[in-house]
Amino acid sequence: MSKRAYNFNAGPAALPLEVLERAQAEFVDFRESGMSIMEMSHRGAIYESVHNEAQERMLSLLGNPSGYKVLFLQGGASTQFAMIPMNFLGEGQQANYVMTGSWAGKALKEAQLIGKTHVAATSEASKYMDLPRLDDIKLSDHPAYLHMTSNETIEGTQFKAFPDIGSVPLICDMSSDILSRPFDLNQFAMVYAGAQKNLGPSGVTVVLAREELISESPKHLPTMLRYSTHSGNNSLYNTPPSFGIYMINEVLKWIEERGGLQGIEESNRKKAELIYDAIDGSEGFYSGCVNPDSRSHMNVTFRLASEELEKAFIKASEQEGFVGLKGHRSVGGLRASIYNAVPYESCKALVDFMAHFKQQNA
Ligand SMILES: *Cc1c(COP(=O)(O)O)cnc(C)c1O
Repeated sequence: MSKRAYNFNAGPAALPLEVLERAQAEFVDFRESGMSIMEMSHRGAIYESVHNEAQERMLSLLGNPSGYKVLFLQGGASTQFAMIPMNFLGEGQQANYVMTGSWAGKALKEAQLIGKTHVAATSEASKYMDLPRLDDIKLSDHPAYLHMTSNETIEGTQFKAFPDIGSVPLICDMSSDILSRPFDLNQFAMVYAGAQKNLGPSGVTVVLAREELISESPKHLPTMLRYSTHSGNNSLYNTPPSFGIYMINEVLKWIEERGGLQGIEESNRKKAELIYDAIDGSEGFYSGCVNPDSRSHMNVTFRLASEELEKAFIKASEQEGFVGLKGHRSVGGLRASIYNAVPYESCKALVDFMAHFKQQNA
């Protein structure tokens, strides 16, 4: 068997080996059809069963909340940044955003192109190294919705809880932590995520939304940019990214096999604690970037005493088979992305490497 890297890529990111092997086994002849899933009609019975299975599994993992639809869209989470205000921000309303860093900022910027916005809370004062308290979120008059980013992939912060804002729709970008822990979908009007971090390959964006929110969209919008188009056609208005959706279905099976979201959360907590403990126990050789209360269990960001030492760390790590430990170019430092599919063994290998590197360089 070929050797697998210790893969800490931020996205596209590691996929479960079991899923890759399953996909490989049925790659050229899917369910005895004599073709791969990529080669068949998206209107045929075989593909449609995979499509519907993936939707059902997604809701089942979330406890089958009633009144929600699962959409499979394209254009990444970045297209959602624009579709959300296009579809939901009406005349005389304001789109409310919680500003927590790079991705929240990009979402806000798109809304500013469409209409009136309001920053309901921000952690700019700490350069986004912590999160606003839920009590500090102050909605504008006539809020169309409140948008939050559950996990800031670049800075390495993650909300542990979400506010109750009554009848105002709460919309959440969960691109980098969806299905990494249990959450109550009923708290949200809509949740969305690019698949390439926790769900599957790039090319699919999953949207979970209340049916009444997406059943009607403004008529002036282009057809593909209306949620109602996709909702009314079971995400089959045009050709869906069928291979990606098949892979998501396999990843969802893999999550079920690991005890569902509770099982996954437990395994993610162990991985995160292992690495944060290595940072905190390093007598200052490594330092975590984020206020401990706001730390992400998905993206662990940390620094060394100098950029020179960080460069040496990355170089030495690459020689040992580690991939993706360089921080995002906008913030520097180091980052270990430890999404669902990153095995505990990779995290253990990383803390062993960190100890060794410290010994050599402290
Ligand atoms: C990666 C990421 C995005 C961007 O996703 P694309 O699918 O590349 O558009 C948006 N939000 C968050 C939180 C992300 O981590």
